[in-house]
Amino acid sequence: MSEQYVDEVMALVTQRNPGEEEFHQAAREVAESVAPVVAKRPELAKAKVLERMVEPERQIMFRVPWVDDDGEVQVNRGFRVEFNSAIGPYKGGLRFHPSVYLGIIKFLGFEQIFKNALTTTPIGGGKGGSDFDPKGKSDNEVMRFCQSFMSELYRHIGPDTDVPAGDIGVGGREIGYMFGQYKKLTNTFAGVLTGKGIGWGGSLVRTEATGYGLVYIVTRALADRGEDWNGKRVVISGSGNVAIYATQKAQQLGAKVVALSDSSGYIVDDDGITLDTVKDIKEVRRGRIREYTETHSSAKYTDGWQGIWSVPCDVALPSATQNEIDGAAAKQLVDNGCIAVGEGANMPSTPEAIDVFQQADLAFVPAKAANAGGVATSALEMTQNSMRLDWSFDEVDAKLKGIMNAVYDQAAGAAEQYGKKGDLVAGANIAGFLKVADAMLAQGVV
Ligand code: NDP
Repeated sequence: MSEQYVDEVMALVTQRNPGEEEFHQAAREVAESVAPVVAKRPELAKAKVLERMVEPERQIMFRVPWVDDDGEVQVNRGFRVEFNSAIGPYKGGLRFHPSVYLGIIKFLGFEQIFKNALTTTPIGGGKGGSDFDPKGKSDNEVMRFCQSFMSELYRHIGPDTDVPAGDIGVGGREIGYMFGQYKKLTNTFAGVLTGKGIGWGGSLVRTEATGYGLVYIVTRALADRGEDWNGKRVVISGSGNVAIYATQKAQQLGAKVVALSDSSGYIVDDDGITLDTVKDIKEVRRGRIREYTETHSSAKYTDGWQGIWSVPCDVALPSATQNEIDGAAAKQLVDNGCIAVGEGANMPSTPEAIDVFQQADLAFVPAKAANAGGVATSALEMTQNSMRLDWSFDEVDAKLKGIMNAVYDQAAGAAEQYGKKGDLVAGANIAGFLKVADAMLAQGVV
């Protein structure tokens, strides 16, 4: 029944969503993981729970016109996919990157349903973004784009409806401009976006949350094998929000982070990365990672982002983008003695790469579990906004750590319960699925 069931669900997905390969990939992985569970619980099959889950509740696509600094009119496309609200308001980030199209937003939104369920907080799944490229744009251009984007999006979102946040290309600056426009259009100061600035509704630790959470959960996976971070050589791809704060926490726990990248290339510093330099390049100057070598003679820069996986390491934390580790790169990591992989990015490993990691029996923590700390802390931001209270850094950090432990326990527990001990891919998919599936069953066919 299992294989046939996966084929039936995937036939539906591919026929309804032609050409959306990333979405097909994400849907197949979940369908394969949960098919044995659905086989054991016929009421889930009868109520067509998975068939309903793969169909977004609502998809919004819109024109985003704006004027650049030369006075030229530019037109981008905006998206918001409100995927599933069975356990809470839609929640998920906005991605601004030229590669964005409906299939990327749908894969991200679909993953978000299960990730959000794992966080133990009451949030549904959604995602959005645009094919706008913030790179090389002036602050004024970014502001005009964000205002135009929000001029349409505002009518679809709300603190109890849909609460977007950041993702690739959307950080504090973009959230600020979008929040300002939402406030102006609605005349309300509402917790409608997360990742807001401290002092106007933001939560401490939100900036660090995804990277910190990633390191907290990999700590658990290492501990299961009698290992810790001390003295470990770590390779992290990307040099954005997730990569920077994963580096910071791994270093605090005694690891030596030796490589970081951006979409142009990667740096290796065998003395260990000096994070202040990276933060200055990326957060202050919005520069390129190659500039690191201008002030660190111990470091070497290589063109091309794929090569980073040839750098020998004990722990790899892919934190750039989807499908950045293919089967060959995964084999290289394993051959070089890597013992653990934690996915900071969403779906950074191809199915072939995951196979390689699982065959090699290394500790593999998939994105739905590994990067859940960001959205979990966004949920904590929503709670603080509703209570009109601010928690201290230590309070939020302790809650984040507790949530990451709960995510790990649920994924590991579900894997064991369904005869897949140690398989956190299956475990995270099953645990997230069951929480949402039971809510959908209780709420009837809607
Ligand atoms: P940022 O925009 O802050 O940084 C992204 C980094 O990845 C940059 O270094 C960027 O390089 C690199 N990158 C982006 N696209 C590509 C590409 N196609 N090829 C190679 N490198 C690329 O984003 P985040 O750090 O926020 O996000 C990174 C990943 O983490 C994404 O997959 C995101 O979905 C995921 N994530 C983020 C969360 C968050 O809270 N921010 C929460 C959960 C998951 P360049 O500057 O050259 O583009």
